[in-house]
Formats: sequence, structure tokens, C-alpha cells
Amino acid sequence: MSSAVPFTVPSFAGEVADAVVKVLDSGWVTTGPQTAAFEQDFADYLGAAHVVAVASCTTALELCLRGMGLPQGSPVLTPSLTFCGAINAILHAGHRPVLVDIDEDTLVPGPETVAVAAARLVSAGTPAAAMIVQNQGGYPVDLAALTAAAGLDRTRVIEDAAHGPGAGRDGAPVGSSSYAACFSFYATKNMPIGEGGAVATTDQELADRVRAMRLHGMSKDSWKRYMPGGSWRYDVKDIGLKANMTDIQASIGRAQLTALPEWQRVRGELVARYDEALRGLPGLTLPQRDLDGVQHAWHLYQIRVPERDALIAELEAAGVATSVHFIPASHMTYYRGVLGEQECARVPVTDRVAEELLSLPLYPGLSPDGQDRVVTALTKALRARD
Ligand SMILES: *Cc1c(COP(=O)(O)O)cnc(C)c1O
Repeated sequence: MSSAVPFTVPSFAGEVADAVVKVLDSGWVTTGPQTAAFEQDFADYLGAAHVVAVASCTTALELCLRGMGLPQGSPVLTPSLTFCGAINAILHAGHRPVLVDIDEDTLVPGPETVAVAAARLVSAGTPAAAMIVQNQGGYPVDLAALTAAAGLDRTRVIEDAAHGPGAGRDGAPVGSSSYAACFSFYATKNMPIGEGGAVATTDQELADRVRAMRLHGMSKDSWKRYMPGGSWRYDVKDIGLKANMTDIQASIGRAQLTALPEWQRVRGELVARYDEALRGLPGLTLPQRDLDGVQHAWHLYQIRVPERDALIAELEAAGVATSVHFIPASHMTYYRGVLGEQECARVPVTDRVAEELLSLPLYPGLSPDGQDRVVTALTKALRARD
């Protein structure tokens, strides 16, 4: 039996090791010149006006919400089918997550479900103050349509673009034109650093606020203070987080960015091979995607299948690791407690679809043999059920 297929393995560009050693030898390892250069490189890659590098996508989301200066306790629309960090960001910023159901085909809230949630808030006398949208699996949402459906200004909508690098709609990359897009460089994401995040924004003021708040709210970071001619003086004008990116991370990010386009190409090829091999298998639904004018980032290859949990065990036994994206927020103990059972019962499509979701291995280092093994194991398990 050939070796097991892991669910994900991070790829690292050949230049990473040298880049890290250079930073270690430079005498400056925390936020400094490499972070500034990475911000410029990532802005160039996205076509973004401003990029601020931070510790994670979760802190990026919280910093953007804080940067909006909403009144405490504001209702913020969010998919229930998302990562818990995105919900925590809303709560840590002092606001109230309002769960939005998904559209069954795209696995993200559509204009209809957003409009339903927004209308409910209006009739309760507490209209939505902001919204987080999520590019599930790398599928870029129609931001303009969702913003209109929520009745919000574009400066009140944040993209959770953790799955977003490489995605685009109508020729505009995710992060190039929205008020705020939050990226993740976590180990499993399309551009892994290990840990890290970034905010891309069209708004200079938001960029300035996030830049100060990522480091305690200090008016000057220590690199600026220690540079020749720098002063030891700084002020704190607003309360911030400790959420800066280090120059070690940034140097890895700069090397990784040069490899990202090739990795995205490989992901697209792997997806085409899965589509071809899996089409028509009994009991299996390949999520339908409206790909008209859409550049998918292929962060995840998500399928739907009944009795998913049994299939996970069968695949595991055949040496194929899988994952689930996501366990809905409405199923988690803590959120059920703070949001209440009534709020958690408002996402029936999410509840139903989430029981069937399964993510297959998809990463640039997945060999054709490894992928064949996934396909063979899945085919065998599904045919045996038929
Ligand atoms: C991974 C992920 C996050 C969190 O990213 P971190 O950089 O680990 O904070 C947020 N949202 C989604 C959809 C994710 O998949």
C-alpha cells in the first residue's frame, strides 16, 4: 500500500530559507523594512491601493471592524458557515454577529438570504451596521450585489478573503477594489507563511488606523523610532492590539509570493482532474459554481455527500485524509450561548448542507498518484453504497 495522502501540506518556495537567514543576520527581526516591502509586493500582486500586514486574518477582521468606529453592540451580518475566528473577531470588536444563511449552490450567502437577514434587523429596529462576506473555498462573491442586498454603504462591508488570494471577479482580483479585504497566510492557506494576515483597502484612512492599531495604537512603531533621526517619543491615540507581522514572516511572504501564480495554476489543474474523475459518481454532488466572469482561487475542493461521517472514516481507513469547512457557528456551544437558540435556528440551509460537506486534499504538492488514490478510494466507497 502506498503512503497515506495528507489533507494538506504547505508548499515553500526555494528562496525562503535564504530570505529568513538574511533577516536573522540583519539585526532587525520584528516589523520593519521587510514588512514594508512585503506590503508593497502584496499590494502589487493584488492591484491594491494600500496593504497593511498583520498577525492573522482573524486580527485583520477585528482591526477593520474597530477601524470603522461603529457603536458598541452593533449588529454585523456574517455567514454561519464560516471559520470561528471570523465570528470571534466580531465579538472581540464588541459587536453582535447576525447569522446569514447560505445559497445551496455557491455555499455562501446570496443576495436573497442577505436581504432576508437585513430586513429582519430593520423590522426589529436595529438595522445592520456592517457585514462580513466570505470567499468560501476561493469562490469570489459578488460584493456589489451583497452590499446592495444588505442596504449598506461599501465602507461597511469587509471581505473575509482568507481563501481569496488568486480569486477575482470581472477581471478585478479579490482585494483590489473593496473597502477592506482580509487575507490569511496561515499554514493551510494558498499562500502559506505559517502565520500571518493582511488588510487590503482602497481607503487611506482605514489603512492608517489599522497600521496604528496593529501595534498597540502607538503613533510610531519601534523601527521608525530606532531609525537614524528617529525619536523615542510616541503617543497612543486609540487602543490597539498586539497584531503586527514580523520581518521574518514578511521575508517568507515575499519569497512565497513569487511562487504563488504557479501554485494557483497547479490547483486549477488538480481541480479539472477531480471534476473529470468524479463527475457522475452515485450520491456525490460537485458544488455547482457560477463561474461566469469568475476567477476561482481553488483553495478547497468541496463535495457534498449524504452520510458524510461514515465516508470520512472509510476514506481514512484507505489512507486518505479529508476535512470539513465548516462546522457552522450556529452549532458551536459558545455562540449558541451568546446568540441564543432562536438566532441559531435561522440558518436551515446551512444546517442541512453542512452535514454533507467534505473537503478533499487539494494543494500544489499533491502528486497525480496521490490524487488517483483519493479518486479510487472515493469511487470504491460510493459504488459500494449504491
Ligand atoms: C483560516 C480562516 C480564517 C482565519 O485565518 P487566520 O489567519 O488563521 O486568523 C478566517 N476566515 C476563514 C474563512 C478562514 O478559512
